[in-house]
Amino acid sequence: MEKAFVKVWESCLEIIKDNVSSQSFKTWFEPIKPVKLSNNVLTIQVPSQFFYEWLEEHYITLLKKTIKKELGTEGRLEYSIVMENSHNASKPYTVKIPTTNKKELKNPSVAMPIDINQNTIRNPFIIPGLKKVNVESQLNANYSFENFVEGDCNRLARSAGFAVANKPGGTAFNPLLIYGGVGLGKTHLAHSIGIQIKNEFPNKTVLYVSSEKFTQQYIDSVRNNNQNDFVHFYQMIDVLIIDDVQYFAGKEKTQDVFFHIFNHLHQTGKQIILTADKPPVELQGFEQRLLSRFKWGLAADLQTPGLETRIAILEKKLYTDGIDLPKEVIEYLAYSITTNVRELEGALISLLAQSSMNKKAITLELAKQMIDKFVKNTAREVSIDYIQKVVCDYFDLPIELLKSKTRKREVVQARQIAMYFAKSMTKSSLATIGLHCGGKDHATVLHACRTVNNLMDTDKRFKNYIDELNKKISIQ
Ligand code: ADP
Ligand code: MG
Repeated sequence: MEKAFVKVWESCLEIIKDNVSSQSFKTWFEPIKPVKLSNNVLTIQVPSQFFYEWLEEHYITLLKKTIKKELGTEGRLEYSIVMENSHNASKPYTVKIPTTNKKELKNPSVAMPIDINQNTIRNPFIIPGLKKVNVESQLNANYSFENFVEGDCNRLARSAGFAVANKPGGTAFNPLLIYGGVGLGKTHLAHSIGIQIKNEFPNKTVLYVSSEKFTQQYIDSVRNNNQNDFVHFYQMIDVLIIDDVQYFAGKEKTQDVFFHIFNHLHQTGKQIILTADKPPVELQGFEQRLLSRFKWGLAADLQTPGLETRIAILEKKLYTDGIDLPKEVIEYLAYSITTNVRELEGALISLLAQSSMNKKAITLELAKQMIDKFVKNTAREVSIDYIQKVVCDYFDLPIELLKSKTRKREVVQARQIAMYFAKSMTKSSLATIGLHCGGKDHATVLHACRTVNNLMDTDKRFKNYIDELNKKISIQ
């Protein structure tokens, strides 16, 4: 006869199965073994501490609901954690490490010769002595729209870019200014637009240039006394993409020449696409007349991608490169690296490199070790919100209660703990912390910190809570 706890867990799995993806189910629920059921407490065995933490982090609500459904409102879940054993039988994954540095890659297929009279206009892209008249668009084929994952963080910029690509010079988005912090995809998106235009309108001359290169070419043209060629060359372009225009700051002469080129292109219905690390209003060191032109079209920002988008980006990259990684590893990376896409990709590449060099399987353990090193270098700070979320999950309290003014005992204690962690793990002031935690003042926060410290000295169980919470909060 089947044991009761096995039956209960089987019913739970039925419910869970309908609520998570089959991959997650495989990764996070199949390895679980039910071990006992007594007094409405179902004990399940999980393979590791991290496994348990991940469940608590991601599936706690689902688990709670499921247990309540199966065992009634009194039902509870307890974990038994298997200590790590040494005979690791998992077999290594094979991975392919991309060998080309994509940043340096130029795709000859997007290079288009343009008609210029070699004798009258010098092409600043051509190294003297190398007699070559083709102007390459300088586009990187990898930075296509297909490879650019859409998310809430980039929807406006992406769709504006797409509109521009389908009607260069023919939309209100001229110039299109894409702005945002480092590593959020400005360069990628700018290339995507260029690539799409080359596909749709092969006769248009598209040119991508960084603002540094533009500046350097201009300086060279002044030195060689052929500024006119420089200007004329740029005035012939149909779609001009200039990356990181913030570097024009303080460079009056370059701004001047760019101003004239800009005007000419704009007046003749050519498309201009710019990127910058800030919105136009915050750009410093620019001539007013140029700044005001930046605002003629559309300024669209790129923001930090959320968790789902980060996962989608990693999956896309892996898919494109033909690499297979366990879902749990992907989720772990996406969960840990929150700053920007470049760092996310960097972490992924380090992980792949480590695994291929050491011939080790890419497991969650390896990812954890690597990320710990990786993330420490980027010095991130947990947020008060995150601390509150973890504490509330842990004590099974709705976060709204913790943020409210209620004086219910269990809420007060959880709130004090959240305050304690906010004080020790963030640089927020006592006043800020108080504000986040039910609108309390700084004295209350100080009192909370003292109380928690005292309790830790005197109450072993309480100390245990704090240690566990500490691990959960720092794991992120
Ligand atoms: P920025 O120019 O804003 O500093 P990049 O365009 O160089 O950022 O992007 C950094 C890296 O992240 C690139 O390898 C790029 O392909 C990738 N990336 C950024 N955003 C996305 C996205 N939405 N989808 C896929 N890859 C992205
Ligand atoms: Mg860039």
